[in-house]
Amino acid sequence: MADDPKSWQPATKLIRGGLNRSAFGETSEPIYLTQSFVYESAGAADARFAGDDPGFVYSRYANPTTQMFEERLALLEGAEFCRAVASGMAAVHTALTGLLKAGDHLVAGRALFGSCNWIVTNWLPRFGVETTFVDATDLKAWEAAMRPNTKCVLVESPANPLLEITDIAAVCKIAHAAGAKVVVDNVFATPIFQKPLELGADIVVYSATKHIDGQGRVLGGAILGDFALMDEAYRDILRHTGPAISPFNAWVLLKGLETLDLRVRRQTETAAVLADVIADHPAACSVRYPGRADHPQSEVARAQMSGFSNLLAFDLGSREAAWRFLDGLNLVDISNNLGDAKSMATHPSTTTHRAMPEEKRLEIGLTEGFVRMSVGLEDVADLTKDIVQALDAA
Ligand SMILES: *Cc1c(COP(=O)(O)O)cnc(C)c1O
Repeated sequence: MADDPKSWQPATKLIRGGLNRSAFGETSEPIYLTQSFVYESAGAADARFAGDDPGFVYSRYANPTTQMFEERLALLEGAEFCRAVASGMAAVHTALTGLLKAGDHLVAGRALFGSCNWIVTNWLPRFGVETTFVDATDLKAWEAAMRPNTKCVLVESPANPLLEITDIAAVCKIAHAAGAKVVVDNVFATPIFQKPLELGADIVVYSATKHIDGQGRVLGGAILGDFALMDEAYRDILRHTGPAISPFNAWVLLKGLETLDLRVRRQTETAAVLADVIADHPAACSVRYPGRADHPQSEVARAQMSGFSNLLAFDLGSREAAWRFLDGLNLVDISNNLGDAKSMATHPSTTTHRAMPEEKRLEIGLTEGFVRMSVGLEDVADLTKDIVQALDAA
C-alpha cells in the first residue's frame, strides 16, 4: 500500500504532494491551460454538474494544475483544504468577506500590510462591517475589543513592517470565547516556520507571491482551513466572484514549493547573521529581528515559530540616514517586495506605509528612520560587505 502523504516530512511533501500525473507519465507536473472541460455525453455533463461525478467543469471553479498546487500547500500546512487565488489580496479579501456580513464586527491588529489595512478601513464599512484596531501585542486590548457581534479576528504575525509578534494561541482563545473565527495572514512567517492552525486559528492566508514563488515571477494567493468551514464560507464566493488563479501561475508556484524549504532556511540563516552585523554597527539605533533576544516579543516568537524568517527592520535615526543607506547599496535592490531570492530593502514610511497617516505610523512605532529588509539567497559575505559599506555611508 502507498504511503499516506500526511506521514511525510515537509521536504517530501513539497516535492511529491498533490502530484497527479497524466496518462503520459511526465516527470514534471503538467500545465492544464484550459478554460473548460468536455463531457462524453449529455448524461455525463448532467452528472458532473450535479456533483455526482467529481471531474472538472470550468477553471473559475477548479483546474487540475491549480489543484496540484492546492493539495501540495495543504499538505505542508497540515490543513484539510486549500483554495488558490490570483493574489494574496484576493485571498485576504475572500477570507474576510466569506466570514462577514452587514452588522458584523471585525477586530484586527493595527499594524497590517497596507492593502489589508485598506480593505478593513475603507472597503468593509461600505458593506456594514465595523472594525476595531488593537495593539496586537496587548492581549487585554484584544479581549476588550470583542463584542457580541464580533465574527472575525485578523492577525498578521510577524506584522509588516516592524515584525511585531502576536501571541496567536492566546488571541485564538479570546476570539473563540467570543464566538469569532480567526484568520491569520502567515506571509512573513512562511508555512515552514509557523503553523497557525495548530495554534488554534481557523483560516490561514498567504500571498504566494512572496516566499512561495520566491523568484519574482507571478502573483498568487491561498486560503487554507478545515474543509467544512472552507466549503461553507468560500465555495460559492470563489466560484461566482472570480478571483481564480491562472493555471500557469499555479504551476509556477507549485514548482516554487519544491524549493521553498531550502530557500527559506538559507535566507533565514543569512538574516540572523545580518541582523547582528547591523545591530553592531554604530549607524543603527535599533534592529528588529524576531530571532534576537532584544526583540520586544522574542519569547512569544520562540514559543510559536520554529524559525524567524528572512525579514528584518532597523532604525537609522532619520529619513535622510535611511535614504543614504538605501542609495548606498550596490548589491541589495531597493524594492518593496519580499521573500525573493534577491535581497531587497525598502523605506516603509515613504513606500508601503505612505498612505498611513503619520500619527498612525507613530502609533505602531514606524518612524522615518526605519528600513525593512528581505534577505535573499546571495552569499552572506557579499551581503555583509554591501550592507556595512552602506551603513558607513548612512
Ligand atoms: C504581499 C502581502 C499581501 C498581499 O499579497 P499580493 O500577492 O501582493 O496580493 C498580503 N499580506 C501580506 C503580509 C503581504 O506581505
